[in-house]
Amino acid sequence: MQIFLDMDECITWFVRPALEKMNAAMDEPEHELSWYAAAAKEDIDSRFGGDEFVRGHIDKYDFRLSKPVVELMRRLLGNDLEFWADMPWYPGGLELWNLIKEHKPTILSYPIKQHNSFCSEVGKDMWIRENLGREFAESAIFTDDKSQFAIDEDGSPNILIDDYRGNIDKFKRAGGLTIYYRDMSPEDCLKQLKELLSEYGTD
Ligand SMILES: [Mg+2]
Repeated sequence: MQIFLDMDECITWFVRPALEKMNAAMDEPEHELSWYAAAAKEDIDSRFGGDEFVRGHIDKYDFRLSKPVVELMRRLLGNDLEFWADMPWYPGGLELWNLIKEHKPTILSYPIKQHNSFCSEVGKDMWIRENLGREFAESAIFTDDKSQFAIDEDGSPNILIDDYRGNIDKFKRAGGLTIYYRDMSPEDCLKQLKELLSEYGTD
């Protein structure tokens, strides 16, 4: 049995710095992506009013997610190695990590792809190396389909900790065990993890 841990909005804080960069691009007429920023701004203005990007605009679970905004986000962040390497810890993320690291989780993350650039993946690898240590960088897996890891090689179910409902549902359907880490404290996550390990684990 293996434990897989998502990065963004579990241990790394993607949303806050992403919105900061997007709003800055929108406010700067000379920005190299000004055309995309203007298109994204027009989209949110026309559909919801409001003049700045908020979490719902880039949140995979939110009905406000829109193509022009995602396009701006991908172009703005997809080639920015430092953005990914320097992401702040998610609130409670370090606490969560310290509580569960003894169980040797494997980092399982979905990087943004932009014109075959691997900046997101490479930057995330750098972040893991710097903040979690080399062994976790070496075991980390970057993929757009987490459900392929639902079952361990010995046939036992693996565990996924993730804040994205889509990943949770797919992993579960593939036979895995899940902890939906959203609006949950690090302590409650550890509690659920221990319950799963004692019910399904071998040790
Ligand atoms: Mg996430």
